Amino acid sequence: TKEDVKSYLFRNAFVLLTVTAVIVGTILGFTLRPYRMSYREVKYFSFPGELLMRMLQMLVLPLIISSLVTGMAALDSKASGKMGMRAVVYYMTTTIIAVVIGIIIVIIIHPGKGTKENMHREGKVVRVTAADAFLDLIRNMFPPNLVEACFKQFKTNYEKRSFKVPIQANETLVGAVINNVSEAMETLTRITEELVPVPGSVNGVNALGLVVFSMCFGFVIGNMKEQGQALREFFDSLNEAIMRLVAVIMWYAPVGILFLIAGKIVEMEDMGVIGGQLAMYTVTVIVGLLIHAAIVLPLLYFLVTRKNPWVFIGGLLQALITALGTSSSSATLPITFKCLEENNGVDKRVTRFVLPVGATINMDGTALYEALAAIFIAQVNNFELNFGQIITISITATAASIGAAGIPQAGLVTMVIVLTSVGLPTDDITLIIAVDWFLDRLRTTTNVLGDSLGAGIVEHLSRHELKNRDVEMGNSVIEE
Ligand code: ASP
Repeated sequence: TKEDVKSYLFRNAFVLLTVTAVIVGTILGFTLRPYRMSYREVKYFSFPGELLMRMLQMLVLPLIISSLVTGMAALDSKASGKMGMRAVVYYMTTTIIAVVIGIIIVIIIHPGKGTKENMHREGKVVRVTAADAFLDLIRNMFPPNLVEACFKQFKTNYEKRSFKVPIQANETLVGAVINNVSEAMETLTRITEELVPVPGSVNGVNALGLVVFSMCFGFVIGNMKEQGQALREFFDSLNEAIMRLVAVIMWYAPVGILFLIAGKIVEMEDMGVIGGQLAMYTVTVIVGLLIHAAIVLPLLYFLVTRKNPWVFIGGLLQALITALGTSSSSATLPITFKCLEENNGVDKRVTRFVLPVGATINMDGTALYEALAAIFIAQVNNFELNFGQIITISITATAASIGAAGIPQAGLVTMVIVLTSVGLPTDDITLIIAVDWFLDRLRTTTNVLGDSLGAGIVEHLSRHELKNRDVEMGNSVIEE
C-alpha cells in the first residue's frame, strides 16, 4: 500500500542519513586534524556527540527496567524459562566460538614478535584476581538498595567493604555498569596512567542488579492475576513512553554520530606512532571480529531460522552504526530495540526479555578481543603458553566479557583478570592502549550484532510458546 511505501522510504532515509553522518564525520575529522586543536577545542567541537551519548544513557535505565518487567510479565513461567534457557545457551555458545576464533587467529597470524622495545607505552595497570572479579559480579546481582543501585553504587560499596580488593580495577570491572561515560573514561585513563589507587569515583549504575530485580519483579506480577493488573499496565505504558522518546532521539542520532566520529578522528594519536607489531595486532583483531560478525553469526542465524541473515542485519544498520559511533552497547540499547522491533518485526516479548540481558552480559566481540590480546601480550613477551594456559585464557576471557560493562573501553580494563590468570604482566595492557579506542568501536558493533541476532534466533525457537500464549490470552494469532 501507499502507507507501506512511505514508511519504507522513511526508514531508508533514516539509514541513509546515518551512513552519510559517518562519511561526513570521517571526512570532517581528517580535514580538521592538521589544525591540531587543543583538548578544550576538541571538547567543544564534539559537544553535539556528547549530547547524544547523554540522551541515550538517560533512557537506558528506565528502558531496561520497564522492558524487562513487561517482558517477563507477558510470558508464563514455562515460556520465560524456556526462552531464558535458549538465550543463555546462545550467549554461551557464541561467546565461546568468539574466544576460539580469537585464539586461532592470533596464533596463526602471530602479530607479536617477542620484543617490546619499539612499542609505545602509556602507563601502568593494577592487579585484580579473577576470584575478586567473580565475587563482585555475583555481589552486584543483588543490590542491597535498589535506589542506590541506580547511582553511586560503587562508591558506597567500596566504603562499606571490609576486605581489600584493588579498588581501581573493580570500579569499572564489576557487574555491568552504565556509567557517565566521560567519567568512566577519565577513571580508565587514570587507572592506566598511574599506579596510585583511585578512590571509588565512578558515577556508576549497577545494571546487572537492576536486570536481576526487574526480571524477578516482572515474573511475580505476571503471575498475580487481577491484583497485578495495575502494575502490568503501568510498566507497559512506561515502556511505550520510553520507546517514543527513543524515536525522538533517533532523529538527532545522525548529528551526534557525525560529531562523535569527527571528534575522535581529530584527537586520535598520530598513526605514525603505531609501529609494526601494533599494526599487525590491529589487523589480527579486525580479521577475527570480521570472521565472527560477518561469517559465524550470520551463518548461525541462517542455520537456525532458515531466513536471510543479511536482510535482518540490514534492518539493524542504524544500531550498528550507533555502536560504532558511541563504542557503548548500553548506550546503543534504545536504538537496538527500535531496529529489532520496527525494522525486523521481532516480537516485543522477546526483545524486552532478551535484549537488556544480552546488552549486559553477552559480548562476543569483547570476549574475542580479550583472548586475542592476552595471547598477543604473551607473544611480545616471548612467553610460551601451554594448552592448559590457553584454556585458562578462554575461560577467563569469557568471564571477563560477561563482567565487562557496556561502556567504552571496559574490555581493556577487564583484561587484567585474563592476564593475571596466566601470570602475564598486566602492565603490558598499556602496549595496546593506543589502538584500543578504535578496536573498541569494532568489538562494540560485534557485541550489538550478537545480541540482535540472538533475539532473532530466540524468537524463532520460541515461536510455539509465543503462539500458545497468544491463544491463551485471546490475542489474534498470525499464522506463519
Ligand atoms: N565497549 C564495549 C561495549 O560497550 C565493551 C568493551 O570495552 O569491550 O560493548
